[in-house]
Amino acid sequence: MVEPFKNPIYVTRPFLPPLKDFCKGLEEVWDSRWLTNNGPVVTRYAQELRSFLAIDNVCLFNNGTLALQIGLQGLGISGEVITTPFSFVATTHALYWNKIRPVFVDIEPDFYTIDPEKIEEAITPWTTAILAVHVFGNPCNHDILSEIAKKHNLRLIYDAAHAFGVQINGKSIAHYGDLSMFSFHATKLYHSFEGGLLTFNDAKLTRIFDYLKNFGFENEVEVVMPGTNAKMTEVQALMGSILLPYLDKMIQERESIYHLYCERLKEVAGIRLPIKHAPSIQYNYAYMPVEIEECRFGMSRDQLYEKLKEYNIYARRYFYPLICDFPCYKNIQVQDPLRTARNVASHILTLPIYAGLSPDEVNQICDIIIFIQKNH
Ligand SMILES: *Cc1c(COP(=O)(O)O)cnc(C)c1O
Repeated sequence: MVEPFKNPIYVTRPFLPPLKDFCKGLEEVWDSRWLTNNGPVVTRYAQELRSFLAIDNVCLFNNGTLALQIGLQGLGISGEVITTPFSFVATTHALYWNKIRPVFVDIEPDFYTIDPEKIEEAITPWTTAILAVHVFGNPCNHDILSEIAKKHNLRLIYDAAHAFGVQINGKSIAHYGDLSMFSFHATKLYHSFEGGLLTFNDAKLTRIFDYLKNFGFENEVEVVMPGTNAKMTEVQALMGSILLPYLDKMIQERESIYHLYCERLKEVAGIRLPIKHAPSIQYNYAYMPVEIEECRFGMSRDQLYEKLKEYNIYARRYFYPLICDFPCYKNIQVQDPLRTARNVASHILTLPIYAGLSPDEVNQICDIIIFIQKNH
């Protein structure tokens, strides 16, 4: 008999710095009485991110969704954009808010990122960009995507909401493509309560993004474009800035949790563990996705998901349903049968992983999964 958890275990839990460090930072904000509108903490934080990512151009936002919306708008994307249905719904929402038609194509089965082989057949005269997602922090196949983008004169934009801290050959993934968006939402691996970041190589975009996130104000009396309000606050930047030095430690802790899960679950029939990354990739262990094969595991993913709740474990079915199956996008025609995406969406389960989840707790989660399987 295995015991349920006394307190609920959620799929993630935000990492918090020592409260006194945060309070000390707040004193600076109180002293300045500058709470938002590109204040000194936001300015300093942007500089910290520039040097952390080794990239010149960064722009901070109050959340990732608005960052992506503004990123698309600032690049002048229109018409059709080829994207993935296997993501958080905001990826497609950002297109919709720019009156862009999403064209969904399938994902590849190992890393769940957009399948480059499906892209060319989806290109039409109206296609202007590819919006790809580094799902669970797994880097997209950038070499092939950028080749296709170049060949067809398309922009290449990354929803990198999951991918903060990921590096390829020691270089941040933020350098990929025309634009990358990172989310600093509390549920992500690294956060600023809520927050968003755009990184890009074309320095000319900075001015446009700055206008767009601040109502299009040039000065007190001139508005040069119909912008919105998407600015990061000082308190958000303070949290982001205080947490940045902890990122390596957070990733290391997640890495050992990830390996413990793999060690404990590798012998369990019907659980497919994540594929190992190439050695050139420094992964961030943002999520712990497994696939449940019903006939070998003995029960379906949904049955296991429900059963885990009885033990106070709240795993998540990321991403299910597919974005194209939500009522608000159901009317969009999809040519691609999305075989892999549908298959993955019906088998995937992301298990709890966060800095602060103890090895004992991970072992107990695994014991419970094994117990549930045996007793079903
Ligand atoms: C979280 C997330 C977003 C949205 O970011 P917010 O900061 O919550 O607005 C977009 N895309 C993906 C893939 C995400 O996981």
